[in-house]
Amino acid sequence: MVPRKKFLYLPEAVNDSFTIFPSDGPVSAPEPQDPTPPQPPEGPAGIYPCPCCGYLTFPVPKEEAIAYICPVCFWENDVFDPGEDDPSDENHGMTLRQGRENYRNWGAVREDLVGFARPPRPEEVP
Ligand SMILES: [Zn+2]
Repeated sequence: MVPRKKFLYLPEAVNDSFTIFPSDGPVSAPEPQDPTPPQPPEGPAGIYPCPCCGYLTFPVPKEEAIAYICPVCFWENDVFDPGEDDPSDENHGMTLRQGRENYRNWGAVREDLVGFARPPRPEEVP
């Protein structure tokens, strides 16, 4: 008696239909967004002078105007009050002297902010 040998026909894995998805490579970083220009607050009229342009755009003394951005020259107040030639962290390392010079040349402390700055109001002229 011939023993019946059972063949288990296991499905053979044939991967010729297996699609290898084309590699997209490393996920690309999102496009850097346009930096949003700082927006000066629409606050009360200033009565204290901006350390950069000198117009009375600060509603509080510069010692208290934390991160206040002058709407006229766009100097960002640095409460640590760096000197004329000390780089200001709030202004990307710009010195107050450089900021003043830029304001005189362009009408703002940074050329790309010129379009956002506004002329001083009559009551802001010291
Ligand atoms: Zn100013």
